[in-house]
Amino acid sequence: MTVLYKANMVRGAEWARFFAERAPDTPFRLWPDIGDPAAVRYLVAWVPPDDIAATFPNLELVFSVGAGVDQFDTTKVPPHIPLVRMLEPGIAETMVEYVTMAVLALHRDLLDFIGQQRQQVWREIRITPARRRRVGVMGLGQLGQAVLERLKTFGFPLLGWNRSPREIEGVTCYAGAGALPEFLAQADILVCLLPLTDQTRGILNAELFARLPRGAGLVNVGRGPHLVEADFLAALDSGALSGAVLDVTDPEPLPAGHPFWSHPRILLTPHNASMTTPDTAVDFVLDIIARHRRGEELPGLVDRRRGY
Ligand code: NDP
Repeated sequence: MTVLYKANMVRGAEWARFFAERAPDTPFRLWPDIGDPAAVRYLVAWVPPDDIAATFPNLELVFSVGAGVDQFDTTKVPPHIPLVRMLEPGIAETMVEYVTMAVLALHRDLLDFIGQQRQQVWREIRITPARRRRVGVMGLGQLGQAVLERLKTFGFPLLGWNRSPREIEGVTCYAGAGALPEFLAQADILVCLLPLTDQTRGILNAELFARLPRGAGLVNVGRGPHLVEADFLAALDSGALSGAVLDVTDPEPLPAGHPFWSHPRILLTPHNASMTTPDTAVDFVLDIIARHRRGEELPGLVDRRRGY
């Protein structure tokens, strides 16, 4: 019952160590050292290899090593093999830290202070109390909800928007496309934590920016293609947006000379908001394997028709 890992190799070595510790009887192999392909029952991958079905005739389950699966060509995984994404707690913990940092950076004018420091300008900026800064989160899944839970502690009025209705204590929730304008009209800082699907590609566009309160801040930790680049730059230039923290871009990495690198109103990080943590991810994978063997329901099962 071999588990085969095909993703970041440095972290793969850590996975191997935790596997050896916690499941010494389960052979764990790092791609491309696949051993006997017929023995591979479980595959953990960022992107799947070609010809999965032909190469691994006894494959039972595939894990996406990330929380999102848009990078994963799901057509490569035969329909009868379940695909499970990472619901391990390390991803949420690191995402909560990042979004908290980004929201506070926008809330407390960090982009202005970086600019002032470069120019040796000592100038106070009037502080807006948190209770007057409304934060709206798009996508109320695993990560959106974890982020809102932490943001509560700062006293921001909180809003959420999601495909299906959600009830979250202390958060005014909106559902569906019809409710989007009402949600946007109140989001002084907008956080995108949506999965990338045909419905959400390009959702951060001119029409959306125009519906935000003037001078709103944007945090994109979803995926680069959520954002329409030309509309975004125009919104920054016009003052519709006052600043943005972007962890994801299209393409990644950004090419040299791209306008995001040097824009004074953009704080850019290299798709680094959160990361699958080998320690907790190995526990998650072992738990899912045990559930699978007992024929139980699998948390994190990807709905391939929906795309997430
Ligand atoms: P989940 O699947 O748990 O949550 C996604 C949420 O988005 C669901 O609540 C879903 O609603 C909602 N949603 C989906 N489509 C739409 C739509 N068209 N309109 C409104 N709401 C919609 O995912 P996670 O919270 O685990 O992750 C979210 C995304 O974060 C990932 O897909 C990935 O793109 C990104 N991510 C980024 C990372 C980074 O480092 N920058 C790291 C990890 C993830 P419903 O349940 O009703 O379908």
